Amino acid sequence: TGAGPALEVTDLQAGYGALRVLHGITLSVAPNEVVGVLGANGAGKTTLLRAISGAVRPQGGSVVLHGRTVTGMPDYELTRAGVGHVPSGRELFADLSVDDNLMMGAHSVPAARAGELRDRVLELFPALGSMLDRRAGALSGGEQQMLAFGRALMTDPSLLLLDEPSTGLAPAIVASLFDALRQLIAEGGMSVVLVEQNAGLALEVVERAFVLRQGRIVLAGTAADLGNDTQLVDAYLGA
Ligand code: ATP
Repeated sequence: TGAGPALEVTDLQAGYGALRVLHGITLSVAPNEVVGVLGANGAGKTTLLRAISGAVRPQGGSVVLHGRTVTGMPDYELTRAGVGHVPSGRELFADLSVDDNLMMGAHSVPAARAGELRDRVLELFPALGSMLDRRAGALSGGEQQMLAFGRALMTDPSLLLLDEPSTGLAPAIVASLFDALRQLIAEGGMSVVLVEQNAGLALEVVERAFVLRQGRIVLAGTAADLGNDTQLVDAYLGA
């Protein structure tokens, strides 16, 4: 709490068994700040979000949330500490209804607050309101992405981690997801880390971005700076 960063990642190392993916990531995110993490396939973007959300246990370094060291805590504790994660691949409960998926997000939130959050999610994603009883597995890709987004918001996060929300979706769906994201950002009260392979799209909404390559930050700057140097960004993205 206080005026310090919402998130401080220092020399973070993480991977899978003997495979080291992140080789010392250091970054911080201010309260209400929206930052992007860009990088080519396999750069380690997903692993970075997983190491922050507790889905993957860091092998070194530290993760500090609002001044509290949370390194190595399990994902359910990090959810309670305010980390909302929209994972890559969405990870919905395919056989549960849309509404049950939303409410799973809110299981550690007081009931009255869960009702408010649900209203807000359905305001942001009106399409979900008309399919609350439908099986999550029966939704389109775009609808599933909205649901995964909504479920993360149901945890009442102070830090939202978004893993490539645009992947595999039609441009019109991506546009409506990013409209919802902009609306959320405008409301304030939340920091966001947005992972994207689509640098142009990410730089439209973030204030600052980091470019990851082979598990290291190779470039960082404001969205304006990076947007003006697309050749450099593209070079690092392998485009
Ligand atoms: P993408 O856009 O393809 O998801 P990324 O930048 O998010 O790329 P990561 O998913 O973090 O990259 O993957 C980094 C490296 O870790 C890759 O070499 C990948 O093969 C490996 N990796 C990812 N998940 C696992 C896993 N569960 N087990 C073993 N290796 C993994």
